[in-house]
Amino acid sequence: MSNIENKVIAITGASSGIGEASAKLLAQNGAKVVLGARRTQKLEKIVDAIHVQGGIAKYKALNVTDRENMKAFIHFVKEKFGRVDVIFNNAGVMPLSPMNALKVEEWDKMIAVNIHGVLNGIAAGLPIMEAQGGGQFINTASIGAHVVVPTGAVYCATKYAVWAISEGLRQESQNIRVTTISPGVVETELGSDITAASAKEALQEFRKISLSPEAIARAVLYAVSQPDDVDVNEIIVRPTASAF
Ligand code: NDP
Repeated sequence: MSNIENKVIAITGASSGIGEASAKLLAQNGAKVVLGARRTQKLEKIVDAIHVQGGIAKYKALNVTDRENMKAFIHFVKEKFGRVDVIFNNAGVMPLSPMNALKVEEWDKMIAVNIHGVLNGIAAGLPIMEAQGGGQFINTASIGAHVVVPTGAVYCATKYAVWAISEGLRQESQNIRVTTISPGVVETELGSDITAASAKEALQEFRKISLSPEAIARAVLYAVSQPDDVDVNEIIVRPTASAF
């Protein structure tokens, strides 16, 4: 039996890419999904498309860097559906650059979204899941949580942090499942905020071999669908032809 029907799943970074694809696939499989991101027009369209397919979905504006805003998002989920079974901490940014370009504001942005965003999701959801007696965090790391590449020092550092935070939470949890998803290169809007020319070129090169976001959504579905006593801790999904 698939353990997904009627599960209440909050998804951050749901306005495009992996978050959007996951929201659609999870809803198709019977979950009640709540989508969060800053671009609410996009969220509205995605929720409408889910409704047309017969799925159950809601959305709310969310900036993951703001702890109170994240708390309000997760409380909205609980208020609308009565519980919070899964929080998919997926929002992320990737303005890659060489260190000597000193794009210190972009470093701060990556730390704020990729690390604080995940911590804020955990802080908002953990007390609710503990009170419920169970739940699941799925945190999007990256292949950059396993290897570091030039222009990726800070981005990879944030993803190593996501890996470590997830592993620490897993070790401390008895009935809360913790899954780290590490995608290889996926064709999405990620990196559209890159301002360093050398990093733009490198990304174009990487993207020559890439996955669709649906490939990662299927991994999320797999992790959620397992029985409660099975915790899929980590999934790495790369394009078959990718050496990176
Ligand atoms: P997208 O750029 O398509 O999606 C990123 C999502 O994050 C958007 O929905 C965006 O929404 C949201 N987001 C960004 N900043 C914030 C914020 N401050 N508050 C709330 N939401 C925010 O890229 P992907 O789908 O590829 O990225 C999803 C995750 O996958 C990221 O964590 C990324 O690091 C990771 N990843 C991606 C890989 C790839 O090759 N694409 C490879 C490995 C990991 P909005 O702008 O509307 O707020």
